[in-house]
Amino acid sequence: MFWHGHHPKEYVAVVPGLLENPDSILDISSHIFVGDTVDGGFSDWLVSFEGRPLPRWEAREETSKVLALGWHGSQGQDVSQDVGQDTLRAHCKCGGVDFLIKRPREREEADKPLDAKDWWVRSKNRYLAGNCACDSCRLTSGLEIVQWAYVPTPRLATASGEPYQFNCSTLKSFKSSENVTRYHCGRCGATVFFWRDSRPEVIDVAVGLLEAPSGARAEDWLDWRLKISHEEDATHARLLKAFKEGFEDWGKRNGKTYR
Ligand SMILES: [Zn+2]
Ligand SMILES: [Zn+2]
Repeated sequence: MFWHGHHPKEYVAVVPGLLENPDSILDISSHIFVGDTVDGGFSDWLVSFEGRPLPRWEAREETSKVLALGWHGSQGQDVSQDVGQDTLRAHCKCGGVDFLIKRPREREEADKPLDAKDWWVRSKNRYLAGNCACDSCRLTSGLEIVQWAYVPTPRLATASGEPYQFNCSTLKSFKSSENVTRYHCGRCGATVFFWRDSRPEVIDVAVGLLEAPSGARAEDWLDWRLKISHEEDATHARLLKAFKEGFEDWGKRNGKTYR
């Protein structure tokens, strides 16, 4: 929930999701380390803040180059770690949580309505993914908007290909409400899973853990829903407005409609 670097020692970075009234004290000035995302990641969705375009620094602010909107790197993530196009590796920072996602069992030729059976399977052999602004996601991750991919639990496997068990290594669980269990890494703190009792066949996987060769949005594996779940919970109204504008524009450029 805090980040403490060596220079300068006078300040500590605090995750914004824990602040009670961020609108009164926070301004967003730029994106840093966009080069690490390969596909632009979240910076393609949060393009400007209150009319000011946000510079997209390849690495550190002011000392690296600015990457244009639509930039796509040819390298950056460790593609050698990818174990083939039918499986996608996911892991936390410390490596204690490490698992594979397999492609959907069913192949869909076209995107179906989201109230259809097997709603999580999308065209081009992908899973549905979405953004959530609910209080519970915010307070457990520290982030104002959290990205989840919806994956059937039998499509998860250990790094060696065995069925995934939810009691391995550094994985810890926490019941954030009566019917919801959240999982995180007990060592590095990474958000990992969200699991709701009412739909046990599907688990939400934190998209930040995915090592997709295409980049942080993992669009060769995920179809992004153009909706922000529980946006009424968002505490940072200025950020929500900026994000919605950028997200909708991205959707238009990519032939999606807000839904
Ligand atoms: Zn970890
Ligand atoms: Zn949520």
